[in-house]
Amino acid sequence: MSLQSNYQNILSQLPENVKLVTVSKTNPAEKIKEVYDLGQRAFGENKVQELLEKQPVLPNDIEWHLIGHLQTNKVKFVAGFISMIESVDSEKLLKEIDKEALKNERKINVLLQVKIAKEETKFGLTVEEAKDIFNKFLNGNYPNIDIKGLMGMASFVDDETQIREEFGVLKQLFDELSSLKPLETLSMGMSGDFPLAIECGSNSVRVGSAIFGERNS
Ligand SMILES: *Cc1c(COP(=O)(O)O)cnc(C)c1O
Repeated sequence: MSLQSNYQNILSQLPENVKLVTVSKTNPAEKIKEVYDLGQRAFGENKVQELLEKQPVLPNDIEWHLIGHLQTNKVKFVAGFISMIESVDSEKLLKEIDKEALKNERKINVLLQVKIAKEETKFGLTVEEAKDIFNKFLNGNYPNIDIKGLMGMASFVDDETQIREEFGVLKQLFDELSSLKPLETLSMGMSGDFPLAIECGSNSVRVGSAIFGERNS
C-alpha cells in the first residue's frame, strides 16, 4: 500500500469530529512532506532532538504535537513553536512549560497524560494527580498554559474488554473535568486500537505505523 492510500484509508475511518495527528517519528522529512502535500497538517513526534531536526526543513504551518516524555531541560527548545504538548506527565514539567511560555510571550496548549494502562508503564499522571493539577490550573496557577484535555495509552493487549475499561477511565475523567471547565481534546487511540478508542469517546487519534508502515526502531 502506498503512503497516500494508507493515509486516505485512515481518514475514511474517522468520524468528522475526530482529529488525526499523524505520528511521524523515525520517518524522514521527505515522507512527512508527502503526507503534508495530501493536506495533513498535524504531526506528532516523540523526541525533541528529532523534532528539532525536522521542524526547520518543513513548512511553517505544520502543527507539531509532542507526544513523548519531555525532560524539563528540553522544554526551552520547543516552547517557541510547539502547537500541543500531549505528554505532560508531572507538575514539575507543567511549571517549566509555563515559565518558557511566558518567556516566549505565548500560551502553550497541553494535554495531561494519564496512566490508564494496567500494565507497567513509565510515564503518566494518576487520576488523582491529574485532578489536582487541573484544579490548580483552574485557580490560576499556570496562566501561560492552556490545558486542552487529556491523553492516554491503553495496554498493548488483545483483550478488548480490558482496553475498553482503560479508555473508559480516561473518558470518565474527561467528563468530570469538563464539567468544571469544558475541555476540547481527548487523545486516545493509535494504529492498533483507534477504532475502539473512538467508540470509547476519543476525538483525537495518534496514528503512525498504519500510515507510514511499521517502524524498525
Ligand atoms: C508511537 C506513538 C504513537 C503511534 O503509534 P502507532 O502504533 O505507530 O500508530 C501514538 N502515541 C504515542 C504516544 C506514541 O509514542
